[in-house]
Amino acid sequence: MPLIISYILLFIFVARILVELIMMFFNRLKAFFKTLAVFINNLPRKHFFALIILFVFLLIISFMPSQVHTQKNIKRQLVLPNQVTSSQVIAPNGSKKTVKNSIEPIDSDTSLQNDISATYAGNREVEFDIKAGDTVSEIFQQEGISAALLQELLEADLQYVRLANLLPGQKLKLLISPEKQLLSLTIIVDLANTLTYTLKDGEYVSNLEVKQGEWHNSVYRGEINGSFYINAKAAGLSASQIQQISRALSDKIDFNRQLRVGDKFDVLVAKQYIDGEYTNDSEVLAVVLESQRQIYTAFMNEDGRYYDKDGLGLSKAYRRYPFNGHYRISSPFNLKRRHPITKRISPHNGTDFALPVGTNVYSIGDGVVSLVGNHPAAGRYIVIKHSRKYTTRYLHLSKALVHKGQSIKMGQLIAKSGNTGRSTGAHLHFEFQINGRAVDAMKVNLPLSKEVPQKQKAEFVKRRDLYLKEMGKELT
Ligand SMILES: [Zn+2]
Repeated sequence: MPLIISYILLFIFVARILVELIMMFFNRLKAFFKTLAVFINNLPRKHFFALIILFVFLLIISFMPSQVHTQKNIKRQLVLPNQVTSSQVIAPNGSKKTVKNSIEPIDSDTSLQNDISATYAGNREVEFDIKAGDTVSEIFQQEGISAALLQELLEADLQYVRLANLLPGQKLKLLISPEKQLLSLTIIVDLANTLTYTLKDGEYVSNLEVKQGEWHNSVYRGEINGSFYINAKAAGLSASQIQQISRALSDKIDFNRQLRVGDKFDVLVAKQYIDGEYTNDSEVLAVVLESQRQIYTAFMNEDGRYYDKDGLGLSKAYRRYPFNGHYRISSPFNLKRRHPITKRISPHNGTDFALPVGTNVYSIGDGVVSLVGNHPAAGRYIVIKHSRKYTTRYLHLSKALVHKGQSIKMGQLIAKSGNTGRSTGAHLHFEFQINGRAVDAMKVNLPLSKEVPQKQKAEFVKRRDLYLKEMGKELT
């Protein structure tokens, strides 16, 4: 009993103290507001308004979501589905018909993109401007698309190896259904190339649109008074064009030692324009280099090689095989190859050779390394551009011995073969492309001879004279 009384007494005591404290707090608060009122009343007008603005600003700031993410934030923009690419017309019988756009496709199915636009219902399209360091996996993560799907797409990307190597300046567009299913993925590779992966019957089908644009020729001329590089640059030629010139004539003249002050050069360059914009793709068509002692000439033939005015080859002929010795073909080129399990057509765009890991791989022709990279399916790979027309690809390498932009001679060691990427055993996948389309490297009609073939001679002379006329040059 006395215990209960003492508890009650304690409770009253504590309650009393609490009440005292609360009273004290309110008194203080009253005093504070009083002071504040006096302060504000005495404040000049300007200061008062500044104070109010600051308060509102602080209020807004505190309600805004935090901008700090641990994950990198890739800038994206939501765009409405492109309805311009397909337009609907009502046919006489009243049925709707989709008119397809007239961009030249390299591969099948431009209709796929249009099908999706036509069946659009609440799909959302997001667009990304690729900056240095952006990767497709980060973008997928940000959009909530599964990593497994990305793997599937990268497999499909084996032919173009663009997805795994997004470059600054490129654009990536995703079309996503309300159920977060990726309906299509588009990479605007450059002005000329647009690559699209479209979901069709549960599978992603690729389509590369290549705009040919227009090629216009320009003449550049100059005189040597320093180095060829500096004078050619001053004449308006780009680094890659200068590289093409020196590569074309490298067997004839040493540009560093054999040129003298007063030597003259005339160069004809074809440049690609799309919608009036220069794509940065160019090809040196003709070179006339007049030194005190001799005139050197180079003319691009239809086969993508340079010949002198008499039709003698300047660049070395191509070689058929990118390795020395003999190795078994483990899987031939086959555009209609069916997948052994899925029974779907999955073309084999190259020729597989059973090269043991570490075997030397050589470039089959002169050219420039246009890509070196790693790809989940292709493994370590190299792409060499030999001319406007010809490109070769070397996949599943263990080591690349060249870098992007490097000038390559025929027969130059470029890599060690390997077993990287989606590969079931050590082999080299070697691929030959003409205008971006894979052809059978074992059957393609390669320029293998040193001279312009007799059959092409008349055509070559005509072309040479046309180039000379454009350059305003006459050879004696
Ligand atoms: Zn292969």
